[in-house]
Amino acid sequence: MKKKISLVLVFMMVFAVFASYSLANPQSIPNGPWIQPDQNVSLSSLLQPEDVEQRLLDMERRSKGRMETEIIGYSSGYEWPIYVAKFGEADNDNPKILIDTQIHGNEPLGTEAVMHLMQTLAMSNNKEVRDILDNVTVWFIPMLNADGATIFEIEDYGDAQTRQNIQYWTPEEWGLDADTDAPWYHVSQTWRGTPGYDINRDAHPHLDFDLAVHSDQHSPCNEDENWGGQPGFYVTPEARALRDVFKELEPDLYINHHHRGSNIESEENPELTTLQILGQFVPLDREDTIVDNGETYTYTLTEESLDLSRQVNALVYQKLQKGNSLFGQITKYPRVEDFYGGYGLPGTTLGSFSMNDTAVMLYETRGQSTRDTGQKANGRYIRQSLDGIYETLLGFATGEVYDIDPSFYEDEIPEAGPRITVPDPGQGF
Ligand SMILES: [Zn+2]
Repeated sequence: MKKKISLVLVFMMVFAVFASYSLANPQSIPNGPWIQPDQNVSLSSLLQPEDVEQRLLDMERRSKGRMETEIIGYSSGYEWPIYVAKFGEADNDNPKILIDTQIHGNEPLGTEAVMHLMQTLAMSNNKEVRDILDNVTVWFIPMLNADGATIFEIEDYGDAQTRQNIQYWTPEEWGLDADTDAPWYHVSQTWRGTPGYDINRDAHPHLDFDLAVHSDQHSPCNEDENWGGQPGFYVTPEARALRDVFKELEPDLYINHHHRGSNIESEENPELTTLQILGQFVPLDREDTIVDNGETYTYTLTEESLDLSRQVNALVYQKLQKGNSLFGQITKYPRVEDFYGGYGLPGTTLGSFSMNDTAVMLYETRGQSTRDTGQKANGRYIRQSLDGIYETLLGFATGEVYDIDPSFYEDEIPEAGPRITVPDPGQGF
């Protein structure tokens, strides 16, 4: 009897917590949607590399000169062309923004978002859009990791994509012995069955870094405790293509778009987080020095560029939470102190580029691929990223971003909350 009462009490307490959510549909417990156990994963609605190419060329044709595309490289495995789409010149006085998506092939919705945004920039005669085009230079690299984005099928599961590209480790190409271990961010077999790199650990703050010249810096994983906090080597053609565009544009701001699993804001407020953001990827006291061609180069994160990162992240937070209508909670992504003993993530493009006087912003949309969410929420998540990036462009066009107090970022954007797994709809809560 006693046990029964306490169960009812627990039920009532849980019910009270979730009372604000619709209970009619198990998909909305505790504020999903979540993919159902018997729902075979279909990614047929997602863009593929050939769709991206065809749409970019179509937009360019119809943009009446607003947009220019260029092939900046080819994916390692399937040799898909990688495009940059340019709105504005690199050599004018406007603020410059570089945005890439899907550096992890199985994180597709950023590509969907920027394709919509580019369509608007290419076609619309709305006054805000014209203001953006007149006052901001913005370049996009959609679907950077086209290998990983290429859909394949797994029996009894459905469609899948991979985080990594398709590429072997080739030590001799870099002047290393044939039996040299691969960098720590290389996987000999992804679930596609192919080898590949995590392109988002392949960056180095020294943009001219060449492993063939600096093969002494190659250090396979696990040799010291800082192994994950090391820069990468630009061994992937995808990271090199992005790096080349970064060098050409020298952007004031770099935006990089991802997905992660599902988080709630906090134990006290278990509302689902639909977006995590972050503006810092290496600690301020990190200093990377390299001697290249007789010259010594030193790379650090400066307070000045970090402040602009804080302003950009704060602007997006404020704009998306305003009215708190369409979207869920926004928090920070886990902080730099949480990665590799506080060494941070210099091998990420955000980390390396931030050490080159560029402000940065990370988008981590809910749902690793569509596995966690099914497809019902995709439109909302695409919209959230689209709105965030659009507001950013507008914030630079009007100058509003520079008026934001950078301390808002530290003081007002909540820290990352706990991660949660897919609830079993059969169990009630
Ligand atoms: Zn990612």
